[in-house]
Amino acid sequence: MTINRRKLLAGGAGAGAAALSVAAAQAQSPPGIQWDYDVDIVVVGAGATGLPAAIVARESGARVILVEAESHLGGHAICSGGNLPLGGGTSFQKKWGVTDSPDLIFRDLTDWSVTTANGAADYRYNDREIIRAFADNNVATYDFLVAHGVVLVDKAPDERGGGSVGGSIMREMHCAPVDWPLIQTGKPAKPEDRLKISTGNGLMHPLIAAARKAGVEILTSHKMKSLHRQGQKSGPVIGIAAETNGRMVNIKARKAVVLGTGGSTSNVNFRRMFDPRLTEEYCGVAGTPWSYQDASGELAGMEIGAALWGLANNTGEFGSVITKPGTIGGQYGYVNLRFFPGSEVFDKARATGLPVKDWQDVITVNMLGKRFYDETGPQYQSDNHGVNKNYVQNSYLNAKNMKWNPRNYLNAAMAGIGDGHNGGGPIWAIFDSDAVEREKWDVNPPNTDPANGFFFSADTIGELAQKIKMKYQRVPMPPENLVAEVARYNSFVDSGVDADFGKPKPLYKIAKGPFYAAWATPVLHDTRAGLRINAKCQVMDMNGEVIPGLYCGGESAGGFSLHGLARATCQGFIAGTNAAREPSRA
Ligand SMILES: Cc1cc2nc3c(=O)[nH]c(=O)nc-3n(C[C@H](O)[C@H](O)[C@H](O)COP(=O)(O)OP(=O)(O)OC[C@H]3O[C@@H](n4cnc5c(N)ncnc54)[C@H](O)[C@@H]3O)c2cc1C
Repeated sequence: MTINRRKLLAGGAGAGAAALSVAAAQAQSPPGIQWDYDVDIVVVGAGATGLPAAIVARESGARVILVEAESHLGGHAICSGGNLPLGGGTSFQKKWGVTDSPDLIFRDLTDWSVTTANGAADYRYNDREIIRAFADNNVATYDFLVAHGVVLVDKAPDERGGGSVGGSIMREMHCAPVDWPLIQTGKPAKPEDRLKISTGNGLMHPLIAAARKAGVEILTSHKMKSLHRQGQKSGPVIGIAAETNGRMVNIKARKAVVLGTGGSTSNVNFRRMFDPRLTEEYCGVAGTPWSYQDASGELAGMEIGAALWGLANNTGEFGSVITKPGTIGGQYGYVNLRFFPGSEVFDKARATGLPVKDWQDVITVNMLGKRFYDETGPQYQSDNHGVNKNYVQNSYLNAKNMKWNPRNYLNAAMAGIGDGHNGGGPIWAIFDSDAVEREKWDVNPPNTDPANGFFFSADTIGELAQKIKMKYQRVPMPPENLVAEVARYNSFVDSGVDADFGKPKPLYKIAKGPFYAAWATPVLHDTRAGLRINAKCQVMDMNGEVIPGLYCGGESAGGFSLHGLARATCQGFIAGTNAAREPSRA
């Protein structure tokens, strides 16, 4: 193999410091690898884990390359709500009179007694070693983020959005967008909102700027394909292979590789290891099409012997692993993320979606045109926040005081049509012109996506069923089914009783054409199981041994059931700090 491109990164804080020659690296590597880059640390993924890891490692003096698969940076984190639940006694908490400690976080996140209203246990399966490290590094992570330009909304911490950390006290802060352009619109927030609203733009834009300022070398449109390990299953990880524009490059990491690849939700076969129902039709993963969580970190780790960990956390029926869509009529329907014309990825998102204010305005049917549940039924409980009233740590009363509510809308939607296939198939919201009026929807593109089979309209219900053709609708919808179902539902509106699914007082008939069918299939969100790590975020193998030189954090790491940004930023901070301390493997 010839070397297409060789690049040398300068050491220390900038160019001019001692650099290592690619030829020298070549001589010390297993035969067959031609190195295109030679640094101390390779961080994979420029999201909530990768950016803190890259910055902290670089500021410790390491030469760092940050490799990102997309042409833009920020990962799901920049799409996020910016609700940041870090505590442990931050100066922010102190300012608002909230008393917290690492011990309290640790006890909250390992509390066996916490369950959601459907009986699922949020924290029972957390790995104590990983949670201890998280608890002990919360304050340092908070200080790090603020020192690197993150501006927080100036209001008391709360437990709204993002999943709170435990139930004892308020920990959640909110990242303000300030003047940064929002990836959703391409424009900054309204001036009156810039210090008030919460968004991942406010977390990630400052970190991207800080990484550049610190001298992290950033390679966009470089997708890691595999890890290089010296010796089959014993030696250290010494670099990665990445694909860019159809060619492969090898990047040598003298100290370590840090994986921050964001989890596995976009990889159908991988996600089905946790839940066989999650077949192809769940194609509107939250955070896509900005970036994808295709399990490439997990797969690369597993290929060199890494173990998976804490798998039960990914199937708990709580939190945002699977959600009800918040918008309908387009492929990407996550409730808190809409892409508008002007966004860098609008050509991929294709539609903004119709936000549903009231699920009384539609009926939802499966591929066969049959209703399956009360449309107003909620999704799974989002962690324990808000439901564990009168929470007392480690008390058996926490579960006893919980009001049982199975929240089965999503399970019914994913139950399928009884033909032996896994997965529920597409779910369609069916509604009429009166509903359009009540919801104040403009059903035309770019709010909907008729061109790609995510939205249909017709003058009669029968014609509407016949029009529903798209790649995931693997059986035609029998028009007589939909006609009968709408007629039956309309009779429930007359009687005031939903005799099939107990919807509390069905309110509106579906009677006035034109009629519509909008994509309303459940949306997958975060991953809560991945590679086995230890307290330092070092990846472990199936024998419980550390794989030298390999780190992981965020959604690609396992053992920790917590939604989002706190887990990822904190583990990125831990991984980057420890990776920088590794000896240089010549
Ligand atoms: C719409 C939305 C709202 C959210 N709101 C909140 C919230 O308010 N609060 C909260 O706490 N959490 C929230 N989250 C969750 C939070 O954003 C994620 O949990 C967090 O970003 C995960 O961090 P990560 O580093 O694991 O992955 P990401 O931030 O997704 O970063 C992973 C990066 O790795 C890149 N990558 C993947 N594979 C490769 C590869 N092979 N080679 C190179 N690069 C690769 C991806 O392109 C991506 O840029 C939200 C998520 C979404 C989608």
